[in-house]
Amino acid sequence: MKKLFSLLCVLGSLNIFSQKGEFLWPLDKPIILSGNYGELRPNHFHAGLDFSTKNAINLPVYATKDGYVSRIKVSSAGYGKCVYITHTNGKVTVYGHLTNYEPALNKYVKTEQKKAKQYEIDLYPKPGELKFRAGEIIGYSGNTGNSSGPHLHYEIRDEKTEIPLNAALFYEYEDTQAPTLTHIGLYNLADTTNPRFLSFHAVLNKEGKWKLKKDTIVLKQNIIGLSFSGQDRFTATGGSNNIYEVQIKYDDKPFYKHQLDYIPFDDAKYVSQFSQVQEKWRFQKCFQSTLFPKGMYKGVANKGRLILTDTSFHKIQMIFKDERGNQSEFEFYVKAREINYFEPPTIKGDIFANANEDVLFGRKKLQIFIPAYTLYNSGAIIFENTLEASGKLMILPFDATLRSTAIVGFEVPKKYKKFKDKLVFKNADNTYTPIVKNDSVFYSVRNFGGFVLNVDSTAPKIKVEVPGPKIKAAKGLSKVIFVISEELSGIKEYQLTINGEWALAEFDAKSGRLTYFIESDTPKGELNFVVEAMDRCKNKASFNLKLMN
Ligand SMILES: [Zn+2]
Repeated sequence: MKKLFSLLCVLGSLNIFSQKGEFLWPLDKPIILSGNYGELRPNHFHAGLDFSTKNAINLPVYATKDGYVSRIKVSSAGYGKCVYITHTNGKVTVYGHLTNYEPALNKYVKTEQKKAKQYEIDLYPKPGELKFRAGEIIGYSGNTGNSSGPHLHYEIRDEKTEIPLNAALFYEYEDTQAPTLTHIGLYNLADTTNPRFLSFHAVLNKEGKWKLKKDTIVLKQNIIGLSFSGQDRFTATGGSNNIYEVQIKYDDKPFYKHQLDYIPFDDAKYVSQFSQVQEKWRFQKCFQSTLFPKGMYKGVANKGRLILTDTSFHKIQMIFKDERGNQSEFEFYVKAREINYFEPPTIKGDIFANANEDVLFGRKKLQIFIPAYTLYNSGAIIFENTLEASGKLMILPFDATLRSTAIVGFEVPKKYKKFKDKLVFKNADNTYTPIVKNDSVFYSVRNFGGFVLNVDSTAPKIKVEVPGPKIKAAKGLSKVIFVISEELSGIKEYQLTINGEWALAEFDAKSGRLTYFIESDTPKGELNFVVEAMDRCKNKASFNLKLMN
């Protein structure tokens, strides 16, 4: 998902890239980068590079190195139409949100889709089956899947571990701008289970160096953590990207370093632990939680906790770098007014969850299971259970990041007894459907916060968008577009049949559009379209359309 906010800003950055190194660019020049690796997206670190296609689709996308197609995934969400190419150098390149594949790949994909009677498909061709040379067209750029505007999403992964690498490091290009800062933030880390944000301070550029207004911060606390907010650009007028690297020195000694690289997909959600928004500024934290992705940290002392052991002044230097080595420096002093020790947990919860161990909690009719290595931070968990009275359950801390899923189960409240298999459990980010066991429901949740029960007994709605209401002939039409809308639980299954036969139609989850292309293999005569859809609570809908071809 990439907003095209930077599109206008990058018009000044045309032709900034030069070509060298082992991979070609996947698009024609000018190459315009609208998102870099490690960008702090709502639920993940951005795993690749986003290339702007200037709001157009159908730009040729090239294999960036010789290789074979090792995977083709077609999805109504995620990367949409996507290709993976494996190279002999132990790397895999990934090309996402394509509008279409090149003709031979397209034929291969369609054959498999028709065999499986599924638009959404995940194929693993054999080595040597579908080969491409560097610079050959593999497909055309688009906006398929979870994309908020036309662009190419491009990744370079490690073949063995499947971990996405910072692809910018494999290219040479011109970048004239060092990272810029707006603020630094301080945390109190005396309670290791509960980092507490203390304050943030504006950072100013004075003669090329970044400084505070006053160069010393005096604190009541002496066990602290640092964070910063800032950005990086390639050219003065270019779009803003994330800062790749920060290194911290404490009294001139190296103390901490992170580089946004080598972040496994399993740890993508660490982003919500790693960054925090204060007012409108998004801070990157320079200290670690109980568990953390190891690959992005290089030489971290004390998990990034700065422990001031006296009340003297101490020098802190922060050195920021972008992927091309452009560097910014920031220096200030800290001083603690008093010296204290680590504190016992300050939040007393219903349970204390150790991130390294399975946690099972049961009280009254509520059961929660958090497997080991699911939470990033050990700490107190609090429940506010008003399920019986109001259908609500609060699990705190609401911003606790779950690496995978926790199970929440309870006896179905009385007033929902009749609808237990249609009982969705919803919080701000997700809607969950139940697994029913006797009188209880269980949900596999990906985050905490405030949940509310809802009954989904409403079927999806289906209508036709193209052609308009009066058109009864397919003549002159290149496609037929249906729209499937669903409010609560989400679409689980959909299919189009024409004259009783399964027909290939492309589904786009973000718009609900199901598109059938009228092509040479479309039957002649009367076309009886039937669209069927079922939501995740098994409510079904169907829609008919007749056209003459
Ligand atoms: Zn992307």
